[in-house]
Amino acid sequence: MARKRERDLSWPPAPSALPWPVVDNHTHLESIAHVLPDGATVPTVAEHVATARAAGITRMVQVGCDLPAARWTDAVVREHPELVGAVAIHPNEAPLHAGVLDVGPDGLPPSPAERHGVGLDEAIAEIAAIARGNDRIRAIGETGMDLFRTGEAGLAAQRASFRAHIALAKELGLALQIHDRDAHTEVLDILAADGAPERTVFHCFSGDEEMARLCADQGWYLSFAGPVTFAANDGLRAALRAVPLSQVLVETDAPYLTPHPFRGRPNAPYLAAVTMATIASVQEVSLEEACRAVEVTSLQVYGEW
Ligand SMILES: [Zn+2]
Repeated sequence: MARKRERDLSWPPAPSALPWPVVDNHTHLESIAHVLPDGATVPTVAEHVATARAAGITRMVQVGCDLPAARWTDAVVREHPELVGAVAIHPNEAPLHAGVLDVGPDGLPPSPAERHGVGLDEAIAEIAAIARGNDRIRAIGETGMDLFRTGEAGLAAQRASFRAHIALAKELGLALQIHDRDAHTEVLDILAADGAPERTVFHCFSGDEEMARLCADQGWYLSFAGPVTFAANDGLRAALRAVPLSQVLVETDAPYLTPHPFRGRPNAPYLAAVTMATIASVQEVSLEEACRAVEVTSLQVYGEW
């Protein structure tokens, strides 16, 4: 009888330090500093920042994309000089705020608690207030479209939410971080119709080479996460190869998408160093050159901190 193999939930070993400091431009510290699967130790935010720094990831963009996480982000970026923030209502949260009985974040019908009891307009208004009131919030995100988790009933709410977030990023002169899961056409159509903010980032880019070229031609930024290191993802590496290095960013999207060879284990900003090595080799530049370019671009997109 085959026994199910236990998943290794220990933290992957620290990679050797990058030769030049780099920004992890998309991470969810509230998930890894407070909630972890059983058996793993839970570092504090300060410990995550210190571990990341030792690996050469000296700064991070903390993304809070539901109301509790956005409020937490508002506070934490004031306490830690290494952090700036992005806030939004996630595309999978939008239908819940809109009161559409669709699916919750876990793919099941939403529980009463997940229906939130706060309307979509009201939720986005709170996001706007947080962004207006804190100059360390540097991006609106993650927002966009998700056809993987959300069925037909939720799409109108997602679309309305995405458009409102685009307008907010433009109004406040902030960068936009886009979540696009199985929704390339929808995302591109809305950007074409409404006009993208000046600094637009595809977080965890998942398109093909053709889409990468199209986005790069628009002057948008493509952020690569752990999947670009996975053996099966030659198509994603081809997409990365098609983008000028000056439009490439790196992220962990922790707690998800831990890079190879640590897939399935917990993820944290220090592991962006592993993904940076893949970015350098795919772009056929030295690791130092890749790091320097990503750092310059990160500060162009989010401003100095
Ligand atoms: Zn994310």
